[in-house]
Amino acid sequence: MSILIHAFSERTFPEIVSGALELRKIIGGEVYAIVIGHNVEELAKKVAKLGVSRVYLVDQPEFSIFNPETYSKVILSIADEVNAKVLIVESDIRGKILSGILSGKLGCGAINDVIGFETRNGKMIYKRVIYAGRAIAEEEVSGDSIVLAIRPGAFKAAEEEGEAEIVKREIQVGELATIVEEFKPKEIAGEMRLEDAEVVVGAGRGIRKKEDLEMIKELARVLGGAWGLSRPLAADYGWAPIWIGISGISIKPKLYIAIGISGQPQHTSGIRDSKIIVAINKDPDAPIFQFADYGIIGDAYQVVPELIKRLKELKG
Ligand SMILES: Cc1cc2nc3c(=O)[nH]c(=O)nc-3n(C[C@H](O)[C@H](O)[C@H](O)COP(=O)(O)OP(=O)(O)OC[C@H]3O[C@@H](n4cnc5c(N)ncnc54)[C@H](O)[C@@H]3O)c2cc1C
Repeated sequence: MSILIHAFSERTFPEIVSGALELRKIIGGEVYAIVIGHNVEELAKKVAKLGVSRVYLVDQPEFSIFNPETYSKVILSIADEVNAKVLIVESDIRGKILSGILSGKLGCGAINDVIGFETRNGKMIYKRVIYAGRAIAEEEVSGDSIVLAIRPGAFKAAEEEGEAEIVKREIQVGELATIVEEFKPKEIAGEMRLEDAEVVVGAGRGIRKKEDLEMIKELARVLGGAWGLSRPLAADYGWAPIWIGISGISIKPKLYIAIGISGQPQHTSGIRDSKIIVAINKDPDAPIFQFADYGIIGDAYQVVPELIKRLKELKG
C-alpha cells in the first residue's frame, strides 16, 4: 500500500511529508510526493530531500493557476500509476476542495483537518479538529482507500534525509468544464502573515481589553514583526479571525514573545517550531515558562511598555 502526497508550497510540504512518514510507520509502504505547477522544479528538488521514496514533477504552464479539475486529474493519474491507497493533501481551502473531488472519484472516504492518527484495536483512528477548534473528533473510515487533508502545522516539519529521484510526467488535461483565469491570494490589509513572520508577538488572556492590544501591536511594530492571539481572545472574544495553536495556525518565527499566555498544549503545539520563545507572565508557575527559552515574571502592563521604550532607545 503506498501513500501519495500533494502540497502547494515549500512551507507546507515538509509538514505534510512528516505526517505521511508518521502514517507509513503504521501502515507501511512507500511515500511518493507530487509537485504540480509551472516552474516548480526547485520545489521538487527540495521535496526530494525530505525522506520520500520518489517525487513526481508535473511542470506545465497550464498548472500555473490552481484549478481543482486539472490538479485532481494529475493526482489521480499518478495515484493510479503508483497504486496509492492513501492520498494526502494539505488542509487549506484548496486542499479541501481537492480531497472532496478525489474521494468522490475514488469512491472512498475523506477526512479533512487531520491533526493525528493512531491504531486502536487494529483500526486506524484519525483525529481532526471540529467546531472551529473547540473539539477534536476521532474518526475511522471503512474500505482500503482514503483521502486525508492534513492540517499544516499539525506535524513537525520533516528533516532533510536522503535524495529521492525526481520523475517528470506530462499530463494531458483534455477538455475542461472549468477554466480558472486568475487566482488572487487574499490580501491581508497592512499586516504580515503570521506564518511568514520572523518575529511574532502573541497575546493571551493576560491582556484584559481589546484597546490594550495596542501595546502588543506597538511591540510587534518596533520589532518589525507580526502580532497574534491565543484562541480565547480571537475565537471567544472575537478580537481577530485567526489564532495561534493546534486549531488555528502554526508559526515558526525566529522569535516568539508570549504575553499573558498560560501555555496550554493547544497553544504551544502551534509555536513549537519557533527558534526562541520569550514568555512574559505574572504567574511564576505558568506552564509557558517550561516551554520558553527566556522568561520574564511580571505584569505585562508594566513590562511591555518598558520593553517598547528600551527597544526604541536602542534603535535610536
Ligand atoms: C479542542 C481545543 C482546541 C484548542 N485550540 C487552541 C488553539 O489553537 N490555540 C489556543 O491558544 N488555545 C486553544 N485552546 C484553548 C486552550 O486550551 C487554552 O484555554 C488557551 O490557550 C488559554 O489561553 P490563554 O493562555 O490566553 O489564557 P489563560 O489560560 O487564561 O492564561 C492567561 C495567562 O495570563 C497570565 N496573566 C494574567 N494577567 C497577566 C498580566 N497582567 N501580566 C502577565 N500575565 C498575566 C496568567 O497568569 C495566565 O497564565 C483549545 C482548546 C480546545 C479544547
